[in-house]
Amino acid sequence: MIRVRFAPSPTGFLHLGNVRTALFNFLLAKKERGTFILRIEDTDLERSRPEFQEGIMEDLRWLGLGWDEGPGVGGPFAPYEQSKRSAIYQKYTQKLIDEGKAYYCYVTPEETEAAKKEAVLHHRPLRFDNRGRDFSTKEIDDRKARGIKPTVRFKIENPELKMHDLIRGDVAFNLDDMVGDFIIQRADGTPTFHMTVCVDDALMGITHVIRGEDHLPNTPKHILLLEGMGFKPPAYGHLSLIHGPGGEPLSKRLAAVSVREFRKKGYLPHGLANYIALLGWAPGNDREIFRWEELQQAFSLEHVGKSSSNFDPDKLNWLNGQHLRLLSDSEFTEQAMAYLLREEKLLGEEALVRRVLPVFKESVEYFEQLEEHLDFLEGYFEYDNQVLISRPESREVFEAALAVLPELTAQGDGLYQEFIDKIKPRVKAKGKDLFMPLRVALTGKEHGPELKKLFSQLGTTFLKKCFERALGRGTLYERN
Ligand code: GLU
Repeated sequence: MIRVRFAPSPTGFLHLGNVRTALFNFLLAKKERGTFILRIEDTDLERSRPEFQEGIMEDLRWLGLGWDEGPGVGGPFAPYEQSKRSAIYQKYTQKLIDEGKAYYCYVTPEETEAAKKEAVLHHRPLRFDNRGRDFSTKEIDDRKARGIKPTVRFKIENPELKMHDLIRGDVAFNLDDMVGDFIIQRADGTPTFHMTVCVDDALMGITHVIRGEDHLPNTPKHILLLEGMGFKPPAYGHLSLIHGPGGEPLSKRLAAVSVREFRKKGYLPHGLANYIALLGWAPGNDREIFRWEELQQAFSLEHVGKSSSNFDPDKLNWLNGQHLRLLSDSEFTEQAMAYLLREEKLLGEEALVRRVLPVFKESVEYFEQLEEHLDFLEGYFEYDNQVLISRPESREVFEAALAVLPELTAQGDGLYQEFIDKIKPRVKAKGKDLFMPLRVALTGKEHGPELKKLFSQLGTTFLKKCFERALGRGTLYERN
């Protein structure tokens, strides 16, 4: 049974890069009916913050990426926060020392730095030269006496390592060039990332590690360390980088696009997830729109590519728009209302907004755009075309409209037809000269959704106010 984990460090919110890692792990677990685990890698006490952990969990839940084991849920391998697992790491570090696979290293950080500089100077590989392995007892005693606290280093014995990456295929590492004995416990006694990741992946029974390409250089270390501790390493798959829209490296600005900001702009969680899935995965045909359940069925690791992908905001908007169209009118209204209320963007009376919302379903790609479409409901808008509103022919239309409104009896979409039928014989304006002033009087804008649909939803009370306002008699709508 597949067991995968998402292992964020709570030093910031979820952003494009790490949320994709979370999504792919989640989708893999769903597809294979496995277990998705959330593990919080909070051993960097200076940079980790509880509010980031809370934020990450909230964003994951919002996206629909609920976890089967982890903080708040529990599970057989709790605790799932690394800061609460120190004793466990300690135990495994000690075991490695006892078995001669790791050792106390009294080389100081200053010496390591100087060795690095020298290596650069002589064009030698930047790897640590393992000098601490062979210190004599006397040397060690001297250093202890000088108050030097040791790190613990894991011994690298096999210089060649080959692995099969689930995404990149066969990868070979020459460890002689890359790494020397590496630190698994710092001089202050805390375990390093390598140690905590390996111990937890092993103890939590992780079968597949899907993570960013930036971790690829760590993987040979992790394989050796796991084997050193007597565990079978999981399968690894490394996701390629996400680039900017033009293929440039994802800039700080774009890298910082957090799930939070997408939420604030009013993307649908499933629209966003669909888009993120396409950053690296493709179904093997031209299909792009996947409902949430479909995505969970369709996803497979075999179709995750190893070339980098480009984050394209226009494509995200388009795809999210497609997901909006998949909603029924009432689903759209509920979700849009929830968004407008949460973001305090509700303009006008709630009942009226609810009636009008479905009319705009085709006009927006994400909910924040509703704001500019719905501003007329509050009544403080400026007309796009004041000249048109002020023309005598237009004023004649508005006067006629006010006269006709009380006579209307039809319900629903029929209301508009009845209105038009009654107004036509009373005014000179025809065609565009009739419809355009009506449109601008109602919404302030020359473009917008189908007038017929909108008109019927506005209701005669609101319509009356609109025409009065257009005639300059709309004291109700002036700011006082
Ligand atoms: N905590 C690591 C990170 O946020 C992830 C480690 C891993 O996936 O192995 O980059």
